[in-house]
Amino acid sequence: MEEAKKQNTSVIAFDALDYNTICSCIRGAEIARRPVIIMLYPGMREIISFRSFAAIVKDLAQKASVPVALHLDHCTNYELLMQAIEDGFTSVMADGSTLSYEDNVRFTRSVVQAAREKGVDVEGELGHVGQVAAGDVYTDERGFTLPEEAASFAEETGVTSLAVAIGSCHGMYKAEPKLALDRLQEIRRATGVPLVLHGGSGIPEDQLEKAFRMGINKFNVATEYVILYEQLQHTFYTEQYGKVSPFEKYKVVRSGLEEYIARKLQLCTIKV
Ligand SMILES: [Zn+2]
Repeated sequence: MEEAKKQNTSVIAFDALDYNTICSCIRGAEIARRPVIIMLYPGMREIISFRSFAAIVKDLAQKASVPVALHLDHCTNYELLMQAIEDGFTSVMADGSTLSYEDNVRFTRSVVQAAREKGVDVEGELGHVGQVAAGDVYTDERGFTLPEEAASFAEETGVTSLAVAIGSCHGMYKAEPKLALDRLQEIRRATGVPLVLHGGSGIPEDQLEKAFRMGINKFNVATEYVILYEQLQHTFYTEQYGKVSPFEKYKVVRSGLEEYIARKLQLCTIKV
């Protein structure tokens, strides 16, 4: 992220949930010659344990020809965050964005203090990036991150990066989102901490390119990738089921995912 900040671009982070989605992220990054961040959403630990996920990512990262980072996405629970660190995560997101400013600072700072001892990075969130499915209003600038608060939050907590609310939302947008790029610039001027954009599925690329130049240094994508995974499997079962070896599925599905990752990563201008 520091390198991305220097180059006015963003590293791209994808939520994975199993071996196929992890493998394809790395292979796609190798095709694109770009760094990649692989994230796990804490709720997914019912599908794959923290320890297993971290071990797979680390094993594949060591063999990869591009930099690969491991990160725990949105986690609101202190004990769970400590568990993830214990289980091998080298970066975590402490999400206190639904708390009051003071409580968010307290929560995030406590995670940073514990994580720092283990050399683990912490992403915080200030201003809440909601969910389209929950009907959250993401176009109202009264909910956007305030530049001066972002600066004091970064200072008081010691976060490595900061997720900001500037008009994006999690899930599939019903109407085309419009990022508040002026606000983003004001936040960037107020604080030097790398900024993170969540809710990356469906934001037009011209807006993303501008946002990356104006201060976003980590960009999260989940919905698009997970839905594509579903679609690729659905297509395989609909068109090929019973006609070819079951092992063919992995080839077909992974190559579709790799292609998507390699294409999406073109938005990042860091070549490795
Ligand atoms: Zn998010």
